Amino acid sequence: MICPKVSLGDLFFAKGSEYGQRMAYTNKIDRKHIDFLLCDPQTVRPLVGIELDDKSHRRKDRQERDRFVEGVFRAAKLPLVRISVQRAYNVGELGVLLRQRVGLGDAQAGVCQGPIERVAAETGIPACPKCGSSMVLRTAKRGSKIGSQFWGCPNYPRCRGVRQYESVSQSAD
Ligand SMILES: [Zn+2]
Repeated sequence: MICPKVSLGDLFFAKGSEYGQRMAYTNKIDRKHIDFLLCDPQTVRPLVGIELDDKSHRRKDRQERDRFVEGVFRAAKLPLVRISVQRAYNVGELGVLLRQRVGLGDAQAGVCQGPIERVAAETGIPACPKCGSSMVLRTAKRGSKIGSQFWGCPNYPRCRGVRQYESVSQSAD
């Protein structure tokens, strides 16, 4: 389950015997957000936080904020993953990275499927070989294969990933 823009105040609380100090940390936590939080869909238990890093994360004030957030996650023993902002993401790579951080590492990599792989297995819709998005069926409008169908990437023209479409011939029994 993907929760966007989660306040640290909804995830963590400050403890300590001294009221003033506790309030100071509560205020510090409450004003910060992470970009995404992944939760177990059955129990809604938080599994891993995700921060998308753009250029602003190189600023000094931003780095101080990042260090504080990392410290909060570390103290609560919740993994936090930093991912640099890109135009398109490789879903396969992201899946491996997140499964490792959540503790579904290599041992289960072969059997644990990401959402795209699961969609592909259930519907026969393949994932783009370049960016991992669920592909769409298109008809060639020009070229030698005009009129024939192929799998195209929904991010075209930014991504030009294609796959051959094999129509399933149905037996009439
Ligand atoms: Zn693509």
